[in-house]
Amino acid sequence: MTFTTRFAPSPTGPLHLGHAYSAMLAHDMAATAGGTFLLRIEDIDQSRARPEWEAQIYEDLEWLELRWPKPVMRQSERLPRYREALDQLTAMGLTYACRCNRADIEAAAGAPQEGVPQFGPDGRIYPGICRGRLTDEATETDVIRLNMEKAVLAAELRSFTETGPAFPGTHTLAPDTLISSVGDIILVRRNMGSSYHLSVVADDADQGITCAVRGADLFEATQIHVLLQSLLGLPTPVYHHHNLIRDENGKRLAKRDDARAIAKYRAEGATPQDIREMVGLPASSG
Ligand code: GLU
Repeated sequence: MTFTTRFAPSPTGPLHLGHAYSAMLAHDMAATAGGTFLLRIEDIDQSRARPEWEAQIYEDLEWLELRWPKPVMRQSERLPRYREALDQLTAMGLTYACRCNRADIEAAAGAPQEGVPQFGPDGRIYPGICRGRLTDEATETDVIRLNMEKAVLAAELRSFTETGPAFPGTHTLAPDTLISSVGDIILVRRNMGSSYHLSVVADDADQGITCAVRGADLFEATQIHVLLQSLLGLPTPVYHHHNLIRDENGKRLAKRDDARAIAKYRAEGATPQDIREMVGLPASSG
């Protein structure tokens, strides 16, 4: 199988040094393996995605001397595919409509108890208020959730291989952890027609990704992705979660960190090789 990886930015702000690192690392890994580097635009959140940020992504990546096959995959064009994946989970009896807002969830969660996690990779662990509802009942303002207790029973206990520096080795899905530390994740967000988790799993499979290269902040979300792959009968790629680029105070870079935007370095006369040096990647062979 040809090594295939991707860089999957959301067009909601400028690309900064951390994104450049992620994109160049994935590109270099594909080049070394004689494989393919793909780009995917993660724009399901249409309230935050902007065409000008998407244009800037293409410009910055080209300036960094990265090349990828076109046309690129854009999540906003794939809502029917996400619907199909959702319908598959619904047909298995694993989904339900949820009308809770943040305040409802906070109120039901009650006081924190020692040793019981309150937050997981999908945010606050859902206390299950709407678990008895049907997916068909969903209104415009509802979200669709996965019933985690049922999901772990329906899934095989898949393992995945991690090749990144922080968590190397083989990791196997742990049903108890998925129930207690992840919970009933959102599959379809309000006004979005999907969620990050559902989309990324369908997209990686449809793009034939054999190795997903991304930041270590997404490592905890990987168990959700592998679970969904198992339920949907999709292949599990190898994962490579790289270290995050931090500022001089040790804080990870965020989209609003305009000071470290690639566009700013470009305007100041930096070269792509300067950027490589800043993030600790070897010079490109061209
Ligand atoms: N769109 C995600 C981000 O910008 C990346 C998701 C992924 O690589 O799986 O952080």
